[in-house]
Amino acid sequence: MITIKKRDEFERMAVAGATVAVVLRTVREAATPGVTMKELDAIAAEVIRGRGCTPSFLGYHGFPAHICTSPNSVIVHGIPNTYRLKRGDILSIDAGAIYEGFHGDAAITFGIGEIDPAAQRLLDAAEAGLWAGIQEVKHGARLGDIGSAVQAEADRLGYGVVREYVGHGIGRQMHEEPQVPNFGKKGTGMKLRTGMAVCIEPMFNLGGPETRVEADGWTVVTADGSLSAHFEHTIGVTEDGPVVFTAGDLFSSSPGD
Ligand code: MG
Repeated sequence: MITIKKRDEFERMAVAGATVAVVLRTVREAATPGVTMKELDAIAAEVIRGRGCTPSFLGYHGFPAHICTSPNSVIVHGIPNTYRLKRGDILSIDAGAIYEGFHGDAAITFGIGEIDPAAQRLLDAAEAGLWAGIQEVKHGARLGDIGSAVQAEADRLGYGVVREYVGHGIGRQMHEEPQVPNFGKKGTGMKLRTGMAVCIEPMFNLGGPETRVEADGWTVVTADGSLSAHFEHTIGVTEDGPVVFTAGDLFSSSPGD
């Protein structure tokens, strides 16, 4: 249990986060060969609204959907379209929900059926990078502690760490200060304080770190066409360490359970 001043806000973020966790789990279960990105978006919309939340992404700077669907070489911000999943694809789903004015935001990447072992290693490393970053979160830690911990997981296997897109503060807005990079130097950068909340979201590429934005103005792809993996959680900062709001196992007050 968290014992801090912002308990009330953190509890609302935990409800938003729990909804995001259910969205990701439900979409993942539905993501089988032949299913389109638009069908996944409709499923996500139903879960978000069914739990008394509103979607964070819909209408955000004009974004036209409830989730981002980013298959294979798409890094982030893919718009749900008519693409049909194939066995062997990897797919990133990024979702956000608002509960009583507070946001939750998280992403997972997973394989459709059996995937290439090299793709699986990339997914495992990106998820390990996320958790390495989360473990650094506590009152008094610095942003560079998070970034360097994330980066170390990519460096071990030679993956490109995306630098143009980074994590962020979160609360009443989906994107707040500070920026939370997936690279950096231990002991440098802003200090975290109890009551803050941040999103850590590593993006690891099988090839180089360079990115390109497609003509729709949203879809970010790897410049070299290599596969990309993306994982994200929303995390509250406490004296004792991190509270992961989007892990889906916090509090019993989540509506709809
Ligand atoms: Mg985010």
